Amino acid sequence: MARYTGPVCRLCRREGTKLFLKGERCHTEKCAIEKRNFAPGQHGKDRKAKIVGYGLQLREKQKARRYYQVLEGQFRNLFEKAASQKGITGENMLSMLERRLDNVLFRMGLATSRSQGRQLVRHGHVNVNGRKVNIPSFTVRVNDVVEIREKSRNNVTILAARDATAHAPSPSWLEVDREALKARILQQPKREELVQIQLNEQLIVELYSK
Ligand code: SF4
Repeated sequence: MARYTGPVCRLCRREGTKLFLKGERCHTEKCAIEKRNFAPGQHGKDRKAKIVGYGLQLREKQKARRYYQVLEGQFRNLFEKAASQKGITGENMLSMLERRLDNVLFRMGLATSRSQGRQLVRHGHVNVNGRKVNIPSFTVRVNDVVEIREKSRNNVTILAARDATAHAPSPSWLEVDREALKARILQQPKREELVQIQLNEQLIVELYSK
């Protein structure tokens, strides 16, 4: 399954904001945004033009895509599914992104980043409703139970991530049992809890509606 494998800090620098792609490092002074908050590349420092119109819509889409680490084709498909559902398209889209299995593990505090969550899923450490699921883009639903499989409960990476994220509160749409390495989806994620970054999903809707 395809995924972005290039340097990730330059993605944050390109978007001019922290996208939290590197786990604990993102919360330290080693973060590239803390040290070099300008666009990457030879002329990054010189980019001063104000972005408007299409450029703004494009940047917003790229920011969301990179934050959730979804490739273009997958993102487009997800948007089309969101648009076909009842309700506000932008919020449907963010809710679906948030309910991706790799993101759920990150929100449960069992992975320090979405890419680590993705790896746990790909390596077969995760059950949904008692059955192994190894598809990171799997979308969980209300009342689903996500848990670490019996054989992986002593996995040092998972336990270290749980300790490292002990301070982070769980979102209200998840009932997390950190000791049991398990969570139940209580409700659809609320818009205000969806993203740690400033994101205007309406601009993405406008971009894809052209
Ligand atoms: Fe790198 Fe994380 Fe900082 Fe982004 S937020 S620049 S991924 S350390």
